[in-house]
Amino acid sequence: MKKTLFLALFLWMTQLAFARQNYDTVKIRPIKVVENLYMLKGAGGNIGVLFGKDGTLMIDDQFAPLSNKINGAIKTIDPGEIRFLINTHLHGDHTGGNENFKKMGITIVAHEQVRNRMLTEQKSARGTAPPRDKDALPVITFADQLNVHLNEEDIELIHFDKGHTDGDVIVHFKKANVYHTGDAFVRYGYPFIDLSSGGSLHGFVNTLDKLLLLLDDNSKVIPGHGELATKADVKAVRDAMADIRDQVTAALKKGKKPEEIAALNITDKYDATYGKGFLKGKDFVLMAAESLSVKK
Ligand SMILES: [Zn+2]
Repeated sequence: MKKTLFLALFLWMTQLAFARQNYDTVKIRPIKVVENLYMLKGAGGNIGVLFGKDGTLMIDDQFAPLSNKINGAIKTIDPGEIRFLINTHLHGDHTGGNENFKKMGITIVAHEQVRNRMLTEQKSARGTAPPRDKDALPVITFADQLNVHLNEEDIELIHFDKGHTDGDVIVHFKKANVYHTGDAFVRYGYPFIDLSSGGSLHGFVNTLDKLLLLLDDNSKVIPGHGELATKADVKAVRDAMADIRDQVTAALKKGKKPEEIAALNITDKYDATYGKGFLKGKDFVLMAAESLSVKK
């Protein structure tokens, strides 16, 4: 009961934030990452864009009312045809424009769980979301890894584990040493683990562990939300979340209930860094306890 209440509260808060958003005033701000790779900020998840003579590839598309502005911003940098759109996961702040971009003839690529979940009703504490429109569905899907070769760049789409959701994909531009992580790594504070979409705290930490094996000190990381990041930023989040996970696991083993664990002040030393987002430390501990209580 408690956890449902908590999740409902979180989703209500995020919905409020979205509802308050006036899309007319949103500006799409391009940020150059390397020569032919940009990050676009607007409202919702960060967009990644690769340009070149073979055409344009984009990652995530924010909300439907922003599609024209996003398309305009992309075409201002390079008028080439947009050919591929990768969804890093199913959430609406990353896939809301799918219908609009697909109608432009763009091929949508995603993890198979993104398509599977879009095809069916999604139940969460917020209620029941109907299946997505046919025009929103990814056309190409995969389970673990898919390679795309475009504009003399080798692009790896990798699903490491069930973390933020069970369809998370990290996009690795190998030559540029640039990564787009979707919400597998975010900078808005304590990360949201979407348990109703198959997410898991264990998987979240495991995903960052595997990502860190690929990153070096020159890597550039486009997070799902927030500013451009480095390996050190990813490492800091991984270490904090692993520490919280281990402490919550130990408390669960002692038979403590989630509410008792939330009262242990486990996140006190992290709250100044991560407590400014949607989730406060205690919320995150409750979510962690719920995730870690689920048998694998
Ligand atoms: Zn998300």
